[in-house]
Amino acid sequence: MQPLTNRSKQVVKKEMTFAEKLYLPAIFGGMIITFKNMFRKSATVQYPEVKRDMSPNFRGQHVLKRDENGAERCTACGLCAVACPAEAITMNAAERKKGEEGLYREEKYAANYEINMLRCIFCGLCEDACPKEAIFLTDRIVPTEFDRDDFVYGKDKLVEKVNERIDVTKRQTPEVLEFKKNKSLSHNKI
Ligand code: SF4
Ligand code: SF4
Repeated sequence: MQPLTNRSKQVVKKEMTFAEKLYLPAIFGGMIITFKNMFRKSATVQYPEVKRDMSPNFRGQHVLKRDENGAERCTACGLCAVACPAEAITMNAAERKKGEEGLYREEKYAANYEINMLRCIFCGLCEDACPKEAIFLTDRIVPTEFDRDDFVYGKDKLVEKVNERIDVTKRQTPEVLEFKKNKSLSHNKI
């Protein structure tokens, strides 16, 4: 048969030497490495009792933000779901009723909003896509669960509590914070 390239190589089964057949040199070699590492500083930590310092831009569990008045910022436009490469986000939109202005910032809001944390790859594209600054990734680690369904986070876990706001400003660059100060831009108005 004509070879496709000249890079093919004949594989030969090498005979084991006497020392290799004994296995003892390999076992002692492995034990020396083990003993050497017993006296080195451990590379692992006893999580969750001990937590590592995370990078300032670590991307963890999402938060759906409220505005300064406590109303949900999300308008269920679906841009985050379209941007999501893992198809982890689903939502249903609803129309805001009279008297609900304090609950929802826009006339349309997300009646249901879910993120499947098992699908999510924490890329942050949903945050980039959002025109309402409604979704941000935070430095919180998604906890382990025993049931797959428990990894589907609804609004109960995603929307920040009115009296327990999650500060995301430390994760924003000075340029973004400066831009947000300009209230003449409609993007920055409440
Ligand atoms: S972080 Fe990335 S993968 Fe996760 S929900 Fe957002 S866009 Fe999808
Ligand atoms: S989180 Fe932002 S991008 Fe996603 S539906 Fe709500 S407003 Fe739109």
